[in-house]
Amino acid sequence: MLIDAYQRRIDYIRLSITDRCDFRCTYCMAEDMTFLPRDEVMSLEECLRLVNIFAQLGVSKVRITGGEPLVRKNALWLFQQIGQIPQIKSLVTTTNGSQLSKYAAALKQAGVSRINISLDSLREDVFKKITRIGDLNKVLQGIQAAQACGFDNIKLNSVLMRGINDNEIDDLVDFAIERQLDISFIEEMPLGEVDHLRGDTFISNQQVLQHLQQRFTLTPLALTTGGPAQYWQIEGKASKLGLISPHSHNFCERCNRVRISCRGELFLCLGHEDKVDLLPLLRDYPHQDEPIRQAILHSMAIKPQGHDFDLQRQQPAVVRFMSHTGG
Ligand code: SAM
Repeated sequence: MLIDAYQRRIDYIRLSITDRCDFRCTYCMAEDMTFLPRDEVMSLEECLRLVNIFAQLGVSKVRITGGEPLVRKNALWLFQQIGQIPQIKSLVTTTNGSQLSKYAAALKQAGVSRINISLDSLREDVFKKITRIGDLNKVLQGIQAAQACGFDNIKLNSVLMRGINDNEIDDLVDFAIERQLDISFIEEMPLGEVDHLRGDTFISNQQVLQHLQQRFTLTPLALTTGGPAQYWQIEGKASKLGLISPHSHNFCERCNRVRISCRGELFLCLGHEDKVDLLPLLRDYPHQDEPIRQAILHSMAIKPQGHDFDLQRQQPAVVRFMSHTGG
């Protein structure tokens, strides 16, 4: 079992299978991103091998992410393989939705139980401004396709930015309610060097909550995923509201997760640089899992107590982009 120095049990991995994406969201990537050369990225077989090793160490939940996971060639094969690992009880993914029309049914068949879809705006011009190259209609069609093939617990994720899309809180919530989707608002995190100062666009989830409480009765839920999210039931509706508040709420004491980049870097915390490079081990020991197991077990000693995001800093807390670490 994976237990860190603060007695937290790690049973959840977020695995990024590509740093590439068909969007260039302004808070997540630079406009002219340089992507990794192919041989620096884990093969899908290497990804699967790692998941199997983590499964033997007590991990039962896997989130496949990126970059945009569904733009990786043959990504479906990986979902199908992970879906068959008996120890993995929960296989989920985070996507921008652009490829869901094509893949939703196959993901369902592979055993994906939940999809988080990022959607920051319902207005074409704003959506384009945020994603730079994204197509809102493709995402809306993707959401529809996922619902049509039986995903009944889709969650929308919206990063709110002051002056950009903070006037869409109501529209986004209404959109979710009409479709019986859950929705989470995410506070923007200082990851990677972007084209704006995070302090300028920051909007606290506390403000979002106060705003929505004027419209709805919101009942706090005990539900926790071990991350910095709190959930509320929107009374009289099927939808739940989530607030992912890494700035104003810090639930690091319950953290149950680690992240693996597509380069095989095991990041112990989203808000710190501490990592263990697993790819050289995977390649040096193609037929022996023990060195990799040992490296993962030892990594528990360096998992930080908590992240430390400070909006007053001029520099980002962490220089790597979320698309590098995996969202
Ligand atoms: N491409 C997929 C997607 O769009 O959901 C998965 C990867 S993306 C990096 C995962 C999530 O991270 C998205 O919901 C995105 O909005 C969020 N994200 C990226 N950079 C962020 C930042 N600086 N602060 C808060 N959320 C961020």
